[in-house]
Amino acid sequence: MKKNNSYWLFLEPHVRIFIKRDHVLLYDTLKGKVLEYCKDHEISKVAKRLKGIKNLFTIKITGKEINGNASLAQLISDLKENCMGDIIDSSLSRGKPVQLVRILNNQAELKKNKFDNFWSIGEDILANLKEISFFITNRCERDCEICKYAYKQFPFCSTNGKAGEILEVDKIRNFVIQAKGSGLSRINILGGNILSYPELETLFNFLAGIPILKSYFIHVKNLKNGFERIASLTDRLSELEVLIEAPFNKGKADYIEKIVQRATLETCLCLVVKNENELLNIQKYFYSIGPDKLRIQPCFNANNFDFFHEHVFLSKQRIIESSPSEKDIFTRMAANPTNFGKLIVGSNGKIYGNMNNAPIGLLEKDSLRHILYRELDSGKSWRRLRTNVQPCKSCVYNLLCPPLSNYETVLGQNNLCQIEIDP
Ligand code: SF4
Ligand code: SF4
Repeated sequence: MKKNNSYWLFLEPHVRIFIKRDHVLLYDTLKGKVLEYCKDHEISKVAKRLKGIKNLFTIKITGKEINGNASLAQLISDLKENCMGDIIDSSLSRGKPVQLVRILNNQAELKKNKFDNFWSIGEDILANLKEISFFITNRCERDCEICKYAYKQFPFCSTNGKAGEILEVDKIRNFVIQAKGSGLSRINILGGNILSYPELETLFNFLAGIPILKSYFIHVKNLKNGFERIASLTDRLSELEVLIEAPFNKGKADYIEKIVQRATLETCLCLVVKNENELLNIQKYFYSIGPDKLRIQPCFNANNFDFFHEHVFLSKQRIIESSPSEKDIFTRMAANPTNFGKLIVGSNGKIYGNMNNAPIGLLEKDSLRHILYRELDSGKSWRRLRTNVQPCKSCVYNLLCPPLSNYETVLGQNNLCQIEIDP
């Protein structure tokens, strides 16, 4: 590098810079490539300048700086090699080259009544709604150990609440009708045992008239005495979600296979897994049913932390391989895509943005618009961000990492990963 020359160092606009102290990550949103520099103060200084809002990914450096700074020379070499940036002699341009860098318009921090640009409010507030889950009853004759905790981790049946609760079909109808013209694309129906719901056929026929996906969740233990009733229901857009726990053996797999073949509704299998052995048995006996029909759902029972550490916790490699797009990153700056747009109605009529948080309304009292506004305005579920919680807020990977899920809440730690964060 000629020491008396000056150069424009620039990043390509599809690169994102993440900096935490002297830990720097440059991420290519097109190729999913990462350049990482740990404990390098020089690179951190340059990265901060590049990221500066006035610099727009382009800064001036001298040949002398490059020659005297091994870190800077290495950074430039890495950028060139990976097509993520370069330098050009400043004498070749009349002024500073312009890079069109995209930034989130309304900042990640949402302020009351100032979210017009990102969220849809007013007439459009309904556009934010994507999915509603109704626990239509908590009645069930079974006594599963998992009943108390699985539904807080993923969609699963539960008898949670006062015994014998029923969500009347008229209340469900009134709520769903309010979603007309919304972004609603899925309704989940859960229990208890949904076969103990007195108006199941009425509810089914009403929902069959709505051209969106409907999923009916039923534990395989309850299906044994009620399959014929389910088998009499038909709707092209309704599916049966069969909830299955261990033991996973050949007898159960054969039984489930027959159900899949005989069911009139499209059938998916949710296989709840708590340890290594169960996982192996699923692979052994259930994969032949068709991997596209299976959803393997790890379940935390307070005694299987090691299993979670091995199979659920994220490695750096898995985070990078998930290669989030620029749109994913922007979304994660402002919302939790796992929760966003989803409402859950308990069998007592309480409405939640997430089952692990306090209710945000009551079915018979609050309008759908009111509920949506409340969650967008002050709710704790749809905007539960990694960038706001410890220790993730101090981690350079926090926008590449998948959004917070229910597992973090249930395990009581936000960093379900194998990554050490600099103190
Ligand atoms: S079948 Fe479902 S609702 Fe019934 S006890 Fe078992 S987990 Fe609970
Ligand atoms: S500390 Fe948090 S943000 Fe960082 S990798 Fe772990 S889970 Fe992801």
